[in-house]
Amino acid sequence: MRPDILFPLFASVTSLDGIGPRTGSAIERLAGPNVVDLLWHLPNGLIDRRYAPTIGEAEPGRIATLTVQVDLHQPSPNRRLPYKVRCRDDTGFLHLVFFHAHADYLTKTLPEGEQRIVSGLVEEFRGEKQITHPDHIGTVEEIEQLRAVEPVYPLTAGVTQKVLGRAIGRALERAPELGEWIEPSVVERRNWPPWHDALAAAHGPDNEADLAQDTPARQRLAYDELLASQLALLLLRRRLRRRKGRPVAGDGKLQTKVTAALPFQLTGTQKQALMEIADDMAGPDCMMRLLQGDVGSGKTVVALLAMLNAVEAGAQAALMAPTEILARQHFETVSKLVAPAGIEVVLLTGRDKGKVRRTALARIADGSAAITIGTHALFQKDVAFSDLALAVIDEQHRFGVHQRITLSAKGRNPDVLVMTATPIPRTLLLAAYGDLDASQLTEKPAGRKPIDTRAVQLGRIEETIGAVERAVDGGARVYWVAPLVEESEVIDLAAATERCEALKAIFGERVGLIHGRMKGLEKDMVMADFAAGRIAVLVATTVIEVGVDVPEATVMVIEHAERFGLAQLHQLRGRIGRGETRSTCILLYAASLGETAKARLKILRETDDGFRIAEEDLRLRGGGEVLGTRQSGLPEFRLADLAVHGELLAIARDNARLAVERDAELQSERGQALRTLLYLFERDAAVKYLRSG
Ligand code: ADP
Ligand code: MG
Repeated sequence: MRPDILFPLFASVTSLDGIGPRTGSAIERLAGPNVVDLLWHLPNGLIDRRYAPTIGEAEPGRIATLTVQVDLHQPSPNRRLPYKVRCRDDTGFLHLVFFHAHADYLTKTLPEGEQRIVSGLVEEFRGEKQITHPDHIGTVEEIEQLRAVEPVYPLTAGVTQKVLGRAIGRALERAPELGEWIEPSVVERRNWPPWHDALAAAHGPDNEADLAQDTPARQRLAYDELLASQLALLLLRRRLRRRKGRPVAGDGKLQTKVTAALPFQLTGTQKQALMEIADDMAGPDCMMRLLQGDVGSGKTVVALLAMLNAVEAGAQAALMAPTEILARQHFETVSKLVAPAGIEVVLLTGRDKGKVRRTALARIADGSAAITIGTHALFQKDVAFSDLALAVIDEQHRFGVHQRITLSAKGRNPDVLVMTATPIPRTLLLAAYGDLDASQLTEKPAGRKPIDTRAVQLGRIEETIGAVERAVDGGARVYWVAPLVEESEVIDLAAATERCEALKAIFGERVGLIHGRMKGLEKDMVMADFAAGRIAVLVATTVIEVGVDVPEATVMVIEHAERFGLAQLHQLRGRIGRGETRSTCILLYAASLGETAKARLKILRETDDGFRIAEEDLRLRGGGEVLGTRQSGLPEFRLADLAVHGELLAIARDNARLAVERDAELQSERGQALRTLLYLFERDAAVKYLRSG
């Protein structure tokens, strides 16, 4: 249950004075539905009203707060001219100017002969000073209430600065004093204010420097958010671990047979990863391990040998791929590789219907399918394994492990290995998974040739086409990646179709097209044609990004490369350079490139190291964008910006761990404060993982 002390913060924003349903829904769009969301809506600017000159001194162009005598009302003679109120002090005159004025209101707030405080932008008009629509008008007594420095908040349609500022002010009044959840040593070393003070400071900037992301107040708030997130991940993970796992240890016989038949030696990091996996599987807990490796680093073989470990132990293993194409490709690869072991491999995808599906299901259920490969169809209700010991999930570049783990946790709890082809920067890994075990394949398999990457202006596309022609004459196979137009498949497809037609005019029928809206079977046919060489130039939307393996493809052209993310370009490029011949990647870019885009293309030309590319991408674009926040499953932080606050993440991780080691069920005073923190950041589910949740 959420602690009582937080109730006022979890009321709707419309519970605040002066916020009706209409403004409320605008605020909800902007910040969120509850009062607490307003606390997290931090200012990005300020208005300094401390400049309080006389009228004579007041400099046009500055915001000034003036004490004046109301002299004379000059109502507008017609609708187009403004209503003016002349004011004065000992040094001169100043006009207050109002368009579409309500005379009643003005005579009430600015009675002739009285003193008033007015604040706003001073202008000069025909040699006279004026303020058009002052931001504030009040009596001399009211000056106390006029904030000398006003925060300026990001806005949206339907809510003004004034209304939002007032609402946030009221929300801040509701914020209670809360017990400290951060380790005293951390607070001290960093010189962080207590939570309540930090909020007040973040919302009450005194000067521009206070708006920076790395002030003690903002750092503290960011840390709070990261701590809540790390603690929640830790508790979730601990609970998943508590699921009764079982030791799974094969005798190595099948692995030996398969390894002996491989046409290559395993790399050092492949062996290392296999050892780590075998250790986890032999342990009593459920394995939850990430296998990270660049495209082409050889994850499939590692997954396969891990699966054989389960099969040797008399159990079953499953491999789940993100797409139909990949599932089929994995099925073919794996079937070939396990031939020497003489075990049964079954394919199950959403496309399989009727008798085929029934047969597959029966083989899976009676245990004769030692290894099952499929799409997410594998985890549908009617799929019952006889004894699933290991689930391998080929995530490619998508996050969301925890969700998938829950998905896979059917029947007896299998060990889980998640493969990801995007080298995830350490910071993001930590943010997304907390302290997940990870094995990394950092060596490239022997015999890989570096890819020659060139950046070419789009204006020289004809030359590029000429180069592609020569390559095709020489027997090469070419990927042509059509430009990302916008986040709409339909429009991307139109661009791809157009490119395809243009290339057909040159290359004739040996041009093919593959895109995300094609049916699975059609895609397979096109890929098969490309693999067999019946298609020489394959125009593609980004669907080929996902792990397709055609070693004969040695050229890739990426149109409007500047529109793609760095990690994405790296992924795409990984489709080539897989065979014997040296490969070339041509990045066609628009002439008018920004600095960031230039820097990105440069990195791609310089390096082939996915981890370095990922770190650079994070640095250049900031946390959320690197993998595309929405599809990444990366938590969206309100207060923390990983590009700035990344270093706080490891501290949050360590301290979350420390807190739980010391006080497993969060019962102590600090423990209770940490529970409050979890509720504050809406990690209610995590609290339930505590025994006395
Ligand atoms: P990814 O990590 O992208 O899934 P794959 O597992 O598809 O990579 O491997 C890419 C290619 O490299 C495959 O053809 C595979 O057989 C080959 N491969 C894997 N391990 C090695 C190795 N140690 N030496 C040489 N080639 C290897
Ligand atoms: Mg793969």
